Amino acid sequence: MSARILVVDDILPNVKLLEIKLTREYFDVVTAFNGADALTVAREQAPDLILLDVMMPEMDGFEVCRRLKADPMTQHIPVVMVTALSDSADRVRGLEVGADDFLTKPVNDTALFARVRSLTRLKMMMDEWRARETTSGELGVLHSRAAETAEAGDKAAVLVVEDSRIDAEKVAESLEWEKDRVSLAHTAEDAMVIGQAATFDLIVISLTMLSEDGLRLCSHLRNAERTRQTPILLMADDADMGRVAKGLEIGANDYLVKPIDRNELLARKRTQVRRKRYQDRLRANYEMSLSMALTDGLTGLFNRRYLSTHLARTIQRIAETQKPVSAILFDIDHFKAVNDTHGHDVGDNVLKEVAGRVSRNLRNFDTVARYGGEEFVIVMPDASLEAAALVADRLRQQIASEPFDASKPAEPLTVTISLGVAMTQDPASHPDDLLRNADRALYDAKRAGRNRVAAYGGDNLPPGIMTAG
Ligand code: GH3
Ligand code: MG
Ligand code: MG
Repeated sequence: MSARILVVDDILPNVKLLEIKLTREYFDVVTAFNGADALTVAREQAPDLILLDVMMPEMDGFEVCRRLKADPMTQHIPVVMVTALSDSADRVRGLEVGADDFLTKPVNDTALFARVRSLTRLKMMMDEWRARETTSGELGVLHSRAAETAEAGDKAAVLVVEDSRIDAEKVAESLEWEKDRVSLAHTAEDAMVIGQAATFDLIVISLTMLSEDGLRLCSHLRNAERTRQTPILLMADDADMGRVAKGLEIGANDYLVKPIDRNELLARKRTQVRRKRYQDRLRANYEMSLSMALTDGLTGLFNRRYLSTHLARTIQRIAETQKPVSAILFDIDHFKAVNDTHGHDVGDNVLKEVAGRVSRNLRNFDTVARYGGEEFVIVMPDASLEAAALVADRLRQQIASEPFDASKPAEPLTVTISLGVAMTQDPASHPDDLLRNADRALYDAKRAGRNRVAAYGGDNLPPGIMTAG
């Protein structure tokens, strides 16, 4: 998928030049020759990035930018101001009206593509984030609470690698302006150690270090576990554009030219940090949806979907381990009466408390899942039928002996469960067969008066355990 870029400039040759360069790199280019047109095209064509000339008659670039950032339809599109003069007052003004980055004319290719790529990547992350949040919201698994909050680019953890102490201090001082927490490394070796010991939002590497190869460091950081995804910003001399281009090729995300301009440094840093944070958030969101797809919202236990996969895998493992697998299926006794007498909320609290008591009393390689409304399954690898029956009876007592205080005003509630136990030693057996046998035993336990344990097919069972099947 190629990004669409809107080029805005009142001078035709300027527009053409950028259009040719960008088209050659397979960007999809749209153009506008004045501020008013730029606003219309931005709304209609939804570009991924806008390159905006500052000096234009009638409406100048600052005003266009201000309006773009005020319009909900265009405010999420990154804007790069293209200034004729490398005037830092212009940069400050640009930032004030919400510009995301700057380029100076004449625009060199390295700068153009570094910025365009950084910002279109950021934009794509944001689009992806919005799309996922919308889907999750529709599925009811996530509140779209964070949907429109932009990720902040300040208070970042930044590692600065620079052997000139004066330059390092200057960068650190600028970053502290936005409350970034700065760590300094004066050698590549230190940078590797520090970079693997903590998580950074950005690594700034100087390419002007005398005794260190910044590009080699860049490539080492890209190959190391903890810094593989960390944005890298290079600092170089004007004469060093060849190495900058090489650096961008091997995975650096952007660069700055010395002497470092504070506003430029901060703008570039914000772009990288925001993208990193979006990425982290997407990943966390993905992991959360995964866990939500496999767990039950009320009790926090695994759900039925997870159980089937897990049980099938556990049974297959019998082939390697030669050890039995047991399952306990249990159901709350007269649960309908709890709901009818005390209300559904109290019923929910009872379910949670049952889940909690059971989980706390199992070995940590046993797995509990909520199988249905008030039915639960425990999978016990390496447990004989007798061992599982003993565990079942212990759980039965733990539920029955201590009243629940799930009702308001607290009125102690006696809850009991009935349990069916079954076992298999056959790696080719089907999980459904094991559960069916456990269910038959559960049925017998209910019929025999509830608050009981029955085991399927056992003959040498502990006292108090019924034989079923
Ligand atoms: P038995 O001893 O034979 O198991 O009787 P029972 O009343 O427990 O069995 P039945 O299957 O008739 O009733 C189960 C009840 O569980 C009915 C249903 O409303 C309730 N239930 C299912 N899921 C939930 C839930 O998530 N929350 C609450 N509060 N109740 C639930
Ligand atoms: Mg029940
Ligand atoms: Mg039931």
